[in-house]
Amino acid sequence: MTQRIGWNFNNSYESLPDKFYSIINPNPVEAPKLVVLNESLAKELGLNPDLLKEKEAVNVFAGNKVPEGGASLAQAYAGHQFGNFTMLGDGRALLVGEQITPGGERFDIQLKGSGRTPYSRGGDGRAALGPMLREYIISEAMHGLGIPTTRSLAVVTTGEPVIREEDLPGAIMTRVASSHLRVGTFEFASQWGSIEELQALADYAIERHYPKIKDDEFKYLTFYKEVIKRQASLIAKWQLNGFIHGVMNTDNMTISGETIDYGPCAFMDTYDPETVFSSIDVQGRYAYGNQPGIGAWNLARFAETLIQLFYDKDKDKAVAMAQEALSGYGEQFNSNWMAGMRAKLGLFNEEKEDETLIKELLNLMHEHSADYTNTFRLLTIGKKENTALFSAPEFEKWYKKWQERLERQEESKESSEELMRKSNPAIIPRNHRVEEAIEAAVEDGDFSVMEDLVKVLSNPFAYSPEQKEYCQLPPKTGEPYRTYCGT
Ligand code: AMP
Ligand code: MG
Repeated sequence: MTQRIGWNFNNSYESLPDKFYSIINPNPVEAPKLVVLNESLAKELGLNPDLLKEKEAVNVFAGNKVPEGGASLAQAYAGHQFGNFTMLGDGRALLVGEQITPGGERFDIQLKGSGRTPYSRGGDGRAALGPMLREYIISEAMHGLGIPTTRSLAVVTTGEPVIREEDLPGAIMTRVASSHLRVGTFEFASQWGSIEELQALADYAIERHYPKIKDDEFKYLTFYKEVIKRQASLIAKWQLNGFIHGVMNTDNMTISGETIDYGPCAFMDTYDPETVFSSIDVQGRYAYGNQPGIGAWNLARFAETLIQLFYDKDKDKAVAMAQEALSGYGEQFNSNWMAGMRAKLGLFNEEKEDETLIKELLNLMHEHSADYTNTFRLLTIGKKENTALFSAPEFEKWYKKWQERLERQEESKESSEELMRKSNPAIIPRNHRVEEAIEAAVEDGDFSVMEDLVKVLSNPFAYSPEQKEYCQLPPKTGEPYRTYCGT
């Protein structure tokens, strides 16, 4: 049976020193039921979707059974949460194994909501259905947008309630990630491990994510620079798509450069750099406009863990090397962002005034409370709607300037439009749509609303008729949208 499901585990994480994980006995749940399965992802992983719907696999998704060749461990990590350093670890997650795909790629298969572990602190180790569906929808939407992310393979309900402010249906999500190594894993190693243990972790991360650099003379510095590069690229993509992570703690920043941990995240509607959705982010630390800077802050914490490996004798020199590497982040972020913005405006070549052109548009969007995604969508399809932005005389001026800029490049209008269609999603997971899908599933057991939503979000650049209704904004409530950590 195991053969036929397609599990093909090779568990490398266990080769790290014991300190980095705890082996967990299964915490069985009463009545597991599969409610969502990502069939196309299953196939990519070399798994048989039909067999994943049967009891044996559902018991794996529920944490009731360790699959053959699988692991059962919780990973240790630390992290800076809202700026404060603390010990964390998988308090409600479990690594089921590292699946080797038919193409030879390695992915962590991890359960989220699978019960208590030594890292649970006061928590129950469990998760409610709503937040697990939310992670499923948003992570799959991110994938559709071409933004590196962990994926979602399945959600099962447990048949048991979780106790929050009220009783909620319990659920477990199966997450797929190229690894769960975080900046926080290095912070844990540097705070509580020996230098040998830290080095073992760094070597492991290099082998797993950056194998090309393993023979580099200064491989740990190169490793640091590579992570910087991936994060600069990732966070630029978040900004370009209006994605707000909501809880950019160092334990939620991966070494692989994938987006991880979809808690209070959401997409911005009205363009405003100060947008914050998370109810707990009262200071706005993780506001949309702060994300690039927080990326640098987190990478500085990462450097502090690695510095001891850069140079063993001369500490000052090591610090200078780290600073020099980190100073490249801003420039890399900017060039990724500028390239993305040029593409959003259909520009192929570079002109000095482009940055001004882009910033002028953003300022106008801010001033006239324009919807971020829809503005670019309408510019793409060449349609002006009757909004404050499109009716403003300053916008007319900007528009003319932009048209003149387009005319100055060699590429045709058609190729510009094509570029814009590839760079501006017609749809994003609008908050009211996500809520509606979750509510239908949780309240009425109707998963069809979510399935339809996930389907249209799988190709947000389609500009298809069925996507049209998903472009619509929510009715104005006067209340700002709020997300909750949802633990
Ligand atoms: P997060 O906000 O999801 O990044 O989680 C921060 C930390 O809290 C991690 O160590 C989690 O494992 C832990 N955690 C979150 N929810 C629970 C829970 N219900 N029970 C135990 N630990 C939890
Ligand atoms: Mg986390």
